[in-house]
Amino acid sequence: MIPLVDLQTQYKSIQPAIDAAALRVLASGEYLGGPDVSAFEQGFAEYCNVGHAIAVNSGSSALHLSLLGAKVGPGDEVITSPFGFVATTAAICATGARPVFVDIDPLTFNLDPAGLADAITPKTKAIMPVHLYGLMADMDPIMSIARQANIAVIEDACQAHGALYKGKRAGSIGLSGSFSFNPGKNLSAVGRGGMVVTNDDEQAQFLRRLRDWGQDGRYNHVHQGFGYCMDTMQAAILNVKLRHLEHWTELRRAHARRLTCQLKNSAVTTPPEPHCCRHVYQVYAVRSASRDLLRAAIATRGVDSGVHYPRPVHLQQAYAGLGYMEGDFPEAERAAAEMLSLPISPELTDSQIDYIAAAVWSDAWRPRAATANLGVKSTRDLARPAQEQSEQAA
Ligand SMILES: *Cc1c(COP(=O)(O)O)cnc(C)c1O
Repeated sequence: MIPLVDLQTQYKSIQPAIDAAALRVLASGEYLGGPDVSAFEQGFAEYCNVGHAIAVNSGSSALHLSLLGAKVGPGDEVITSPFGFVATTAAICATGARPVFVDIDPLTFNLDPAGLADAITPKTKAIMPVHLYGLMADMDPIMSIARQANIAVIEDACQAHGALYKGKRAGSIGLSGSFSFNPGKNLSAVGRGGMVVTNDDEQAQFLRRLRDWGQDGRYNHVHQGFGYCMDTMQAAILNVKLRHLEHWTELRRAHARRLTCQLKNSAVTTPPEPHCCRHVYQVYAVRSASRDLLRAAIATRGVDSGVHYPRPVHLQQAYAGLGYMEGDFPEAERAAAEMLSLPISPELTDSQIDYIAAAVWSDAWRPRAATANLGVKSTRDLARPAQEQSEQAA
């Protein structure tokens, strides 16, 4: 089976350095904070071309802090995309604010700026674009609309380490940007980890305190904060991996170019890379009108795949209280029914990439007419538990 994510092969490729870092931390007896965490913050800030990086214990914690940094709270509204991982919406709700969805651009799967103006109300406090799959949202119109309305933009860059938009790094354009180092992300911890990056000095100081119980000096709590600090072990391992991130990203991009080239004129639509952007392919998702059949067909040929994400957030039971209905965001709903993620790990070989492309092509021999009645009728049909994605693949 060609796996969707292969962290064992990655580990083996850099094992001596990872083992040395892990053993050094174990022997040190210091497991919280320390020079490993600050070195990782400095390295990641440089990588993102920002002034500050604040290491935390997950991407979800990073999102929560970035919202609090924008002073989002009860009674506020935050605009985001209904098509993505639920953590973005969950973080908004955790502040007491209300998520307001705007449909996606069907070509990029990112929040469509054309829908923004209508969604802004006097209660809107922030816009939280998600750089889905590793492609940045269309930031220029988002920033200019936000500036006019005097609201903050906070980037969910959890899938976009090293992505570029008009030469600017993901996370460096808005007030702050949040990253995840969840296993399966382009830069991954041996467990959970996250980062908020910002160019704003005051913001950085505030978030540094918030992540550590609001402390300004030991036991002097100046804000109501959280226990969100990154573990020393994660920072030590992430420091080793950060040195490889550019190389791994270039391998992902090479695999994506090869797949896209080979899938030209096939029945699937390959992911776009607008001229102004550098896509980092955290996910390489193709679009197919008969996604579930394609998924089954390539599985029989030993190619694993994923569905990111089978049901848009506005149709999740947990958020039924927001009052959205099926049909409210047709592009998000269609993407949920049609997107299929193919393996794109840096560790894959060219011949494995060719094999994946051939497996997709093999499905093309199925007569179109026979599939017409089997297609997904509604996103509700996608609720089968077997298709729920594991946390790791989130
Ligand atoms: C992974 C992810 C998160 C959550 O990150 P965790 O580190 O798992 O908490 C949030 N948003 C997006 C878009 C993600 O891909």
